[in-house]
Amino acid sequence: MTKKCDKYEALFTFATDEEFQKHLLECEDCRREHEKMNRVSELITEVKPQFAERKDKYIHIKIACILCMVLFAGVTFQTADSRYRIVEQIVYGEQLTPEDLGFPTDSYGLIMVDE
Ligand SMILES: [Zn+2]
Repeated sequence: MTKKCDKYEALFTFATDEEFQKHLLECEDCRREHEKMNRVSELITEVKPQFAERKDKYIHIKIACILCMVLFAGVTFQTADSRYRIVEQIVYGEQLTPEDLGFPTDSYGLIMVDE
């Protein structure tokens, strides 16, 4: 029983093209391995355009999803901000009323002006 040659990966990766071709001529195991690799390589080349096409479709869907999320988040934030004054509270701290500022106000919190 002969041991199967295990140099294929090492030679394929590290050897020069000449050394690799020379070993392929000498070694039956590596020649078989190299034929298998060539078949896989041809298969990948054949299938590659279909994957690229599918990838493009996903990119359009992703962009559409991101735009929808941005629009939804914007509208939601706008609505929340108009109700809770989020930006004002971040910029000015606590929400200040005319009463806090020392102006005379009526029961609605509106500034009273004497005539
Ligand atoms: Zn070999």
